[in-house]
Amino acid sequence: MTPKRGEVGKAHVAMGFSRATRDELARIMPERRCCQLAELAGLAYMDGTLTSHGYDVVAGQAAAARKVYLLFKQLYQPRMEVKVRHRARFGKQPVYIVGIGQQRKLERITKSLAGVERRYTLERWGKACCRKAFLRGVYLGRGSVTEPSKNYHLEIITNTFSQAALVQGCIETFGLSCGVVQRKNRVTLYFKDAGQIGQFLGLLGAHTSVLRLESVRVMKEMRNQANRLVNCETANMDKTLEASLRQVENIRLIQEKMGLESLPPDLQEISQLRLEYPYASLKELGELLDVSLSKSGVNHRLRKLEAIADELREVDGH
Ligand SMILES: [Zn+2]
Repeated sequence: MTPKRGEVGKAHVAMGFSRATRDELARIMPERRCCQLAELAGLAYMDGTLTSHGYDVVAGQAAAARKVYLLFKQLYQPRMEVKVRHRARFGKQPVYIVGIGQQRKLERITKSLAGVERRYTLERWGKACCRKAFLRGVYLGRGSVTEPSKNYHLEIITNTFSQAALVQGCIETFGLSCGVVQRKNRVTLYFKDAGQIGQFLGLLGAHTSVLRLESVRVMKEMRNQANRLVNCETANMDKTLEASLRQVENIRLIQEKMGLESLPPDLQEISQLRLEYPYASLKELGELLDVSLSKSGVNHRLRKLEAIADELREVDGH
């Protein structure tokens, strides 16, 4: 599953959207220390635990584990251990554990991570740069997104309602609102709207993924528009055909009841043409006349025929 170093960029187009997005986010290293801490706090908030031997962050994805490792290193240079555990029970996918063993820095590290969590729990949201970084950490640990050509769906799986509420609150500080659903013993936050997914990924800094999403969206939109146009033309064609069939019906009735020769010459001429060319448009009929006539002129004559036919029907009715 893990792309080899250096292959990430060029593989972006070919690989799945969710993985490409995760890889793009994993490559972002915030410049400021405040944001580095916030991103690490986002990852640790979901998957960090104090243990008897120190502090562990468990990541289900290699990209997330790498980010945890790099952020710890950047911020604190602690002694670290990275372990890979293969979960037989959960299928093939391994789990990565970044462990900070007992050492003098441990307390400082756990205190600063807990500090971010406490501030956010109290809804003291602070700087936008840090909030974005926090959400990027959360997403890296727990997020995924569906191939946009199939469906618009982005989700973040949390363990508890309070976790979900905190992440949701943080998302809402950016004017976005996500759905919440409980599945088994997990609480999932999700977006179903392409625009919101794009905005959210943009906040996290996944700009290539946003472009990819946008291009799929435009393609879909164009396809829908083309379908609408086709439907619209079909509808118009049906209407034209219906009208000309009624005209033919009118003329046949006149022919039967009083004969076309009893009509004035201009109506005789158009009647004969309509019978001869039942599928011609009004414009085409006008051009077929000896002295060509405009569309509305043709329409006028056909209406006269309709009035005559209607009279004949009325007489018939009595
Ligand atoms: Zn910041």
